[in-house]
Amino acid sequence: MEHNHSKEIAYGFPTIFGRGLLDEFKNFVNPPFLVVTMEDLWPMFGHHFEGAECQTYFCGSIEQDALNKEAENLGEVRAIVGLGGGQALDVAKYFSWRKNLPLFQAPTALSVNAVYGQRSGIRIDGKVVYRGWAVPETVYIDYDVLANCPAHLNWSGIGDILCFHTGVLDWQYAEREGKVEEKWRYDEGLAQQSMRKVRGIVENVDNIRVMNDRGIEALVDGLKWGTSYHGAGWCPRHIEGTDHFLFYTLEKMTGQKFLHGQPVGLGVIVGSMLHEDGAEEMLDTISSIGLDIRPEAMGLTWNQLVEGLKLLRSYVNEVGLWHSIAHDVNISDGFIADLRSRLNQAYHYKNA
Ligand SMILES: [Zn+2]
Repeated sequence: MEHNHSKEIAYGFPTIFGRGLLDEFKNFVNPPFLVVTMEDLWPMFGHHFEGAECQTYFCGSIEQDALNKEAENLGEVRAIVGLGGGQALDVAKYFSWRKNLPLFQAPTALSVNAVYGQRSGIRIDGKVVYRGWAVPETVYIDYDVLANCPAHLNWSGIGDILCFHTGVLDWQYAEREGKVEEKWRYDEGLAQQSMRKVRGIVENVDNIRVMNDRGIEALVDGLKWGTSYHGAGWCPRHIEGTDHFLFYTLEKMTGQKFLHGQPVGLGVIVGSMLHEDGAEEMLDTISSIGLDIRPEAMGLTWNQLVEGLKLLRSYVNEVGLWHSIAHDVNISDGFIADLRSRLNQAYHYKNA
C-alpha cells in the first residue's frame, strides 16, 4: 500500500444553511424560471413561490429520450430550481445541463446523495445510467423544511454515507488480494477522509434520529463527500462497494423500487460481516437512528433476500463491478442465520 500520498480532493458544492430559504427564490432567481419538482410535493411547497414568475415541471419518465424531448419543449426559461428528494434534483440537473441554465437546488429530503453529484441518475431502456454535468450555483438546506420531512426519508440518507465504510474495506481487500484495478490503486489518504465522514454519522446518532440542526449538518457533511467521486477522478472505490452491490442485485432480481437507504444500509451490514469489521457498530448506528433495514421493512420476504444474497457473487462478476469481497465469497446458510439473528436483535427492543 504505497499509494498513500495525501492529495487535496476537490469536493462539495456551495451550500447554504438557514430558515425561510424557499421564500427568497422569487427575489433572486432569474425569471421566468422553472421549478422541477414532484406533483405530490407542490401542494406543500407551492405557496413559497407565490408571486414568482415561474412554471412548474412535475417529474414523469426519466428515460433519456423523454427528458431530451421535454428539455426542448420547456419554452422560455432562464434558470432551473430543483425542489424535492432524489428524482426532482436529478431531473433539474439534467435540464440545467441540456439547456445550459443556472441551477439552484432545494432538497426537501436527504434520502440519497443526488444533490451532491454532478451527473443525473436517469434511465436508458430502463437501465440506470449517469449522464450530464451540473454544478449548482448553491444548494439551499432549510432546517425547517428538512425537520418537517418524514423522518425515514432523511434517515435513508445515512446509507449513502455509511457505505464509505464498506467501500473502503472492499478497496483494502482488493488491494491486498492483488485484484484492484490499476487506475484505482489504494489511497490511504482518500480512504481516511471517507472514514471520517462515517465517524460523523456514528457520533451524531441522537441528532440524526431527532433531525435537529446538528443532525441535518452531519448528514449534509457526509452526503457532500459524494462529490469526491468526481474529485478523485471518477474513482468510486472510497465511496461504495458491497453495500450498493447488494442493492443493485436486489433491484435487478425483484424490479422493486426501494427507499435507497434500506437496501444500501442492509448491504453495509452484509459487507461489514463479510469483512468481519465493524458490523456491530454499523448495525447499532443504523437501528439507533431508526432506519429499519430488515427485509420485511422494505417489502421483501426473507426468502427473497436469501435468493439475492446467493445471487450476489455471480451478479457482481457478471456485471463487472469493481472488485469486492462479494466477488469472491459464497454466502453460506450459517452467514444468513447470523445476519437474521443480528437484525432481529437490533430491532426487537426498538419496536417493543
Ligand atoms: Zn447510493
